[in-house]
Amino acid sequence: MIDEKISRRQLLQGALAGLAAVPAVTLIAHSANAAESLSEDDATAKSLAYVGDAGKVDPKTNPTYKPGQHCANCIQYTGQAGAADGPCNIFPGKTVKAKGWCKVWVLKPGEELG
Ligand code: SF4
Repeated sequence: MIDEKISRRQLLQGALAGLAAVPAVTLIAHSANAAESLSEDDATAKSLAYVGDAGKVDPKTNPTYKPGQHCANCIQYTGQAGAADGPCNIFPGKTVKAKGWCKVWVLKPGEELG
């Protein structure tokens, strides 16, 4: 006769393995979503004058721009400090360049221009 009893330890191990798989799947999905870089040709990006390099902003057409403003010190940027790019609340599912800029730039609290 086969003993079909499942020990409490086996149940716990199965449950923990299942729980561990959920965050991994979530991280993989999140990484895939965040991997797409925002194009300057995107319709919304164009309407907000987004550029991947704030040094290329034309101050004549964007008079609110001041040197030192860039995505990395914008309140909408949620990328890691020091990363080349990261997510922006204005462009969900895309990444923007840390040195980029657009018309809705607002200084992140605790940051300085530079
Ligand atoms: S809202 Fe801020 S972080 Fe997003 S693209 Fe514009 S300047 Fe960059």
